Amino acid sequence: MTLLRGALAALAILATGLAGIMFVTSGRADSGPEPQLPAIAYTTTTPAPSPVPSAARKRSSPTAKPSAALAAERRRAKLRRLESMIRWRTSTAHGTPNAGSLSGGVRLPREGVHFFTWDPVLWKRLNRSARLHTTDRLARLILRVAREHAREHPGAPRIAVGDLSRKGGGSFDASHGVLGEFGGPGTLGHVSHQNGLDADIYYPRRDRLERAPGSLRQIDRKLAQDLVDRFVAAGAQFVFVGPGTGLTGPAGIVQPTPRHDDHLHVRLAPSAR
Ligand SMILES: [Zn+2]
Repeated sequence: MTLLRGALAALAILATGLAGIMFVTSGRADSGPEPQLPAIAYTTTTPAPSPVPSAARKRSSPTAKPSAALAAERRRAKLRRLESMIRWRTSTAHGTPNAGSLSGGVRLPREGVHFFTWDPVLWKRLNRSARLHTTDRLARLILRVAREHAREHPGAPRIAVGDLSRKGGGSFDASHGVLGEFGGPGTLGHVSHQNGLDADIYYPRRDRLERAPGSLRQIDRKLAQDLVDRFVAAGAQFVFVGPGTGLTGPAGIVQPTPRHDDHLHVRLAPSAR
């Protein structure tokens, strides 16, 4: 009995084994078409693009500009806009630079594409608008010299415009602010700058920072001389320069004058337009 049961069990195992072999064999021997594999998504369809935020797309786009260049471009556009907002009109300089007034004055913006302004009282970048009124003639001259200076000297700092005149001109003495000199506390205001024919331009610095120079050593002599030459060529009546600067020009026009070691002072003749 036991023997028979064992034999039956052995037969059953054998049968199962044979069936397995037969199944494998029949599979191998099958000459029909290969069974179709189930389609796999990645081989037959393109995956849908995952949503990318537009900012990220911009950054990764090969045509996108680096953000620094983009920021510089925006800044330039802003400065151009400031210059385009100048209210141009014909100005009249009355009296003399030391006792005069200004009508129809033009106000320069606090900065432009090729210039920034310097507050000589607070001794910091960007002068107050109340100190930036002048004749249309001098305003145009400053913009032109700044533009041509920049074109001739790529990489030079923008020119630093100090005080021009007050709105309507008139006295610009120490009651309107005591002028700093080389950053130190000064004691004086302007004697002139009363009728829109005077402009202070701080010398460019060797380190190219947009600041007034703090000492003679900080002045970029080459760039400073270029500015003197341009104002002379543009027809300035006088260009006052600091005795310590070594800046030169035609005698009678370029005049070494005390208290001008950090800036030059351009004066236009009253009659010329
Ligand atoms: Zn001056």
